[in-house]
Amino acid sequence: MEITDALDLLKEKGYKYTGKREKMVRLFSEKRRYLSAKEVLLDMQEEYPNLSFDTIYRNLTLFEELGLLETTEFKGEKQYRFSCGSTHHHHHLICTKCRKTISFEMCPMNVIFGSPKDFMITGHKFEIYGYCSDCMEAGV
Ligand SMILES: [Zn+2]
Ligand SMILES: [Zn+2]
Ligand SMILES: [Zn+2]
Repeated sequence: MEITDALDLLKEKGYKYTGKREKMVRLFSEKRRYLSAKEVLLDMQEEYPNLSFDTIYRNLTLFEELGLLETTEFKGEKQYRFSCGSTHHHHHLICTKCRKTISFEMCPMNVIFGSPKDFMITGHKFEIYGYCSDCMEAGV
């Protein structure tokens, strides 16, 4: 997803376009990795020192609902990243050190299940954890 797509989507859905929201979108677009709400707050406070955790959290939830952000749970903490915006079903390799992700298109569900009896699958999660090449080079 690109910044302009994200900002257009906000506008399209009738959400007020504020400097704070734009800065948040920019932050995720620049980082391209998973961030915790606390990391987002600390970064945002450089420009908006009075910003509350509540406001951050409300916007993160909104962005998630709109599909601007993908989320996962990591070390007991919810993590947010800028959505790939890919319309293809895909999964992620996640670096546990820098929290960068790499997409891969293959889906293990196709291998694991035919179609299970007495159960309708509506979704699934599959993530692979490890170290990216940058982190390996730097010595993990
Ligand atoms: Zn993705
Ligand atoms: Zn890494
Ligand atoms: Zn899948």
